[in-house]
Amino acid sequence: MSSAVAVAKKKLKNPPLEIHHLGDRVLRQPAKRIAKVDDSVRQLIREMLQTMYSADGIGLAAPQVAVNKQLIVIDCEPKDESNEPLVLINPKIISASKALCDAEEGCLSIPGVYLDVTRPKAIEVTFKDENGRPQKLKADGILARVIQHEMDHLTGVLFVDRVKNNLVLAEELKKNHFSVNAVKPVN
Ligand code: ZN
Repeated sequence: MSSAVAVAKKKLKNPPLEIHHLGDRVLRQPAKRIAKVDDSVRQLIREMLQTMYSADGIGLAAPQVAVNKQLIVIDCEPKDESNEPLVLINPKIISASKALCDAEEGCLSIPGVYLDVTRPKAIEVTFKDENGRPQKLKADGILARVIQHEMDHLTGVLFVDRVKNNLVLAEELKKNHFSVNAVKPVN
């Protein structure tokens, strides 16, 4: 990653941005494309990274911090200073594998809730990076999953909307003091 948006991977006592939780309507609004990747976008990226590291997350989408923009930050190795975080602006999935897989997901907007979600195993995505340059990336494994999870946030979808086991979902939400009425199931 260019030093333009590099931040220290550490927990701040007062992270710059507030993460909104399930039930908050900002999470349900579709995000808008970013027309120009300028210094204000790069400052937002820095603040999102600092907020994500402070919350022990591996991904954060702008709508989670009440910013209505198509911007995602990801770092699957948040403890490894040498691993560069990934910034995706206006991401678009151009292909997805027919093969699906199940894995447990969590979300900084739904703390405490961890449930299995079925998603395509591998994807190919196009996006702009923090310098506004077009990029194309093939991903599988955990990275493919995180990208899909974060991209869902850009259309107002949360991972709990994709959980098929309604019984376990209701139980987990209740246990963590979330309302099951805040879930909007997708097919
Ligand atoms: Zn999430």
